[in-house]
Amino acid sequence: MLSRRKHRVVRDALRDGAWIRDLRGRVSPDLLDLFVTFRSLLGLAELSPEVRDTFTWRFSADGGYSAASAYRLQFLGAMDSPLIPIIWKPWAAPRCRFFAWLVVQNRLMTADRLLARRWPNNYFCPLCMRSLETCMHLFVECPHARCIWERVAVLASAHSLDPATWGTPARTIDWLGGLSAGLPAAEASRVRSWSLLVLWQIWLERNARIFRQASSSVATTMAKINDEAAAWDLAGAKIFPPRE
Ligand SMILES: [Zn+2]
Repeated sequence: MLSRRKHRVVRDALRDGAWIRDLRGRVSPDLLDLFVTFRSLLGLAELSPEVRDTFTWRFSADGGYSAASAYRLQFLGAMDSPLIPIIWKPWAAPRCRFFAWLVVQNRLMTADRLLARRWPNNYFCPLCMRSLETCMHLFVECPHARCIWERVAVLASAHSLDPATWGTPARTIDWLGGLSAGLPAAEASRVRSWSLLVLWQIWLERNARIFRQASSSVATTMAKINDEAAAWDLAGAKIFPPRE
C-alpha cells in the first residue's frame, strides 16, 4: 500500500535498497521497524529469478485465504472464560446475566467506588446499615443478604447456597463459581440460575432502600424471589429440584 511500485517483484525491490525509495507518504516508526525485520528475513531466503512472487496465507493448511480461516484467526490464543459456564450459559433472564457480569467485574456503583471518586454516597450498606457498602459485602458478607441466601438454600434445596458453607472467598467471581463447584451438570446449572436470580433481587432491594426509601423484610423479599423463580420455572428454567 505504501509503495509507488506495486508490481515490482521482491528480488528487484531488494536490489540496492530500491524498496526504500519506493515508499511514499508517512511511514510510522512501527511500520518501518516491520519493514526492516521483513527485509532481514528476506535476506535469509534465496530468491530465484525464475520464480514469481506469490501471496501465501499461513493460517490455512493449503496457504490459500478463506473467510473461515480469517474468522478462526480472531480466536487464536483466546482462553475459555470462566464466566461462560457461571453467567452466560445457565437459564436466567438476560438482565440478571448482564447484572452478574457487572458484579464479578466490580463495576457496580456501590458506596466504596463512589467514595473513591468523591461522588455523593451513603457509605453504609442499606441492607444492614453496619458496614461500608462494597460489592462483596452487599451480596456475600452482609448479614441481611446472608439471611436471604440461607432461606434461598432451603427454597431451592441447594445446600451450596447456604452461607454456612461458603468460607471467605477473595473475589466475587470465586464465590459465585464456588456455589456450583463440584456439582453434577444439571444441579450446577440449577444452582447458577438461582444465584443469578438472587443477586438481582438483592440489588433491587438495595435500590428500593436507597432511591425510594422503601424497605422490605426478608420474608417479603423471599416472596418476591419465590414469585420470580416460579415465573422462570414456567418459562423453562428447571430451577426447582426434580420431584421424587
Ligand atoms: Zn450489609
